[in-house]
Amino acid sequence: MSASDRFCTQCRHTISPRGGATPEYCPICGRSMSAATAPPRTVPYAPRGTSPADRAGKATASFVLGIFSLIVCGVVLGIIAIVLGSQARKEIDASNGRVGGRGLATAGITLGAVGIAKSVGFGLIFGGLRFGL
Ligand SMILES: [Zn+2]
Repeated sequence: MSASDRFCTQCRHTISPRGGATPEYCPICGRSMSAATAPPRTVPYAPRGTSPADRAGKATASFVLGIFSLIVCGVVLGIIAIVLGSQARKEIDASNGRVGGRGLATAGITLGAVGIAKSVGFGLIFGGLRFGL
């Protein structure tokens, strides 16, 4: 049993790679091994969510919240933008290019961070003036 051993999903036969290469088909039942490792999702019709634009909703939300946090100096909005942007980037990275909007998510994180920094900065300045420091 090694890490490169694979199981046929149809007949449960263990297929060990010979000479470093795993056979493309199960020698027992002939099932495609690429299908065994990555079962194809049968989609009878094109559902919503297959287009990258649909799946990048979190990235867009992060970007919009980032902009708002910058405008209104919202620490909470900035934090949400960073969290959403990080989640979006993880999902985008895990999608192997199926989901777009990575730049948007990065922009959301950056804007959120700047928004927080701006809020904290303004808070310190105005707080300082108010208390005569
Ligand atoms: Zn098999």
